[in-house]
Amino acid sequence: MTSLEGQLHRCAINTATLGHREPLDKTLDRIARAGFGGIAPWRHEVEAIGAKAAGRQVRALGLSVTGYCRSAYFAAADPAERRANMGANIAALDDAVELGARCFVLVVGGVQGVKDGVVGARAQVQDGIGALYLEARKRGMPLAIEPLHPTYASDRSVVNTISQAITLCESIAPDDPAMLGLAVDVYHCWWDPDLAASIALAGHAGRIMGYHVCDWLLDTQDRLMDRGMMGDGIVDLRGFRRLIEDAGYTGMVEVEIFSAQRWWKVAQDEVLAVCARRLQSQC
Ligand code: ZN
Repeated sequence: MTSLEGQLHRCAINTATLGHREPLDKTLDRIARAGFGGIAPWRHEVEAIGAKAAGRQVRALGLSVTGYCRSAYFAAADPAERRANMGANIAALDDAVELGARCFVLVVGGVQGVKDGVVGARAQVQDGIGALYLEARKRGMPLAIEPLHPTYASDRSVVNTISQAITLCESIAPDDPAMLGLAVDVYHCWWDPDLAASIALAGHAGRIMGYHVCDWLLDTQDRLMDRGMMGDGIVDLRGFRRLIEDAGYTGMVEVEIFSAQRWWKVAQDEVLAVCARRLQSQC
């Protein structure tokens, strides 16, 4: 595994890391100026300035878009809501194409009120991804399923392990790893006893489309908004990247830190400077 020392062009910033405190055009300039090679923006930011304009700026700055965040939920209690979400997801695919994104990131939805509980929610997710995959294939926009930590199964995602995401990919698009794969986020997956085997399986199948880093703080206060800066928690980040790269992943390392009480209160350029240092020294 090569060092990330002097390799910021191989690193990307998910805009959530900066707390969404300014319009996307300013954030794009800021991230490029700090020397990063990539960015992962969110839909509300892109929609605010328009995907065409955002795409033009991304290309002018020479940035890669490591992923477009993120899908509306496939699992929902109300059929009308599911249909509306599918419409929003198809529209987002077109924006992802305008941006030149490497993939559209799927956060699939949790149980919250779905008939038949977690089993029913997972069936809706399977059907929904299957339908969106057909639309994504027409547009040439890859879909990356992001497994979320099991504490999110109630409200955000009933896909909770890499192994489960691989099974979904294999059942929906068995011969099309370039169009349906997964995004691996250390925050969600570090605890998995099958981590090494699952990453090897996903990587050798050619399905790893994104790699997200932060850290899990020993004394996490909020499962959504208290992610740690790399090096401040308990994840073996070097070991994790070794697994990912040994499995054949050659894409960027994307920093994604939701931190309402800590990093979102620090000036954006300072956050980027710390990210740069920690990527090189800890990841
Ligand atoms: Zn992520």
